[in-house]
Amino acid sequence: MSAVIKPGGAAAREQAIRALLAEVADPEIPVLSIVDLGIVRHVRFEADGRLHVGITPTYSGCPATEVIRTAVRTALDAAGLADAVLEEVLSPPWTSEWLTSAAHAKLEACGIAPPQEPVSSPRRLWNAPLVPCPRCGSRTTERVSEFGSTPCKAHYRCSACREPFDYFKCL
Ligand SMILES: [Zn+2]
Repeated sequence: MSAVIKPGGAAAREQAIRALLAEVADPEIPVLSIVDLGIVRHVRFEADGRLHVGITPTYSGCPATEVIRTAVRTALDAAGLADAVLEEVLSPPWTSEWLTSAAHAKLEACGIAPPQEPVSSPRRLWNAPLVPCPRCGSRTTERVSEFGSTPCKAHYRCSACREPFDYFKCL
């Protein structure tokens, strides 16, 4: 993780830096990296000769944003890129659709249901999305609470296998 990025072509260096950022974990769901979240917007050496890294906050007010910023700074420092410029990219705003397919697989593997397309049905209370159980795949699940272990997740329970699980909310 602390390998110094060696001089070379800009494209090769940018790729090495992306690989480095792929090891920076999301503080709320550590199984996901910030690359899995889709929040790394650009990694490029600009005309000023410095590396510019653009990051989009997952959602405003999320306490993880500052933690992520510090973790990225630490990773870049360790790679000998202490003069890198961190840029906050606010537009377009992040949505859970930016999660990579690798992120969906990692969430399911640790028992967290990945975000689902919103289902509008008058029979479903509070517009709660229909979330299949990550353990048994049953679609008869119920939302127990709007907030799970973090504000980004809701708490569900499967009616088939009776297991509770977290759902990564669509934002
Ligand atoms: Zn189940």
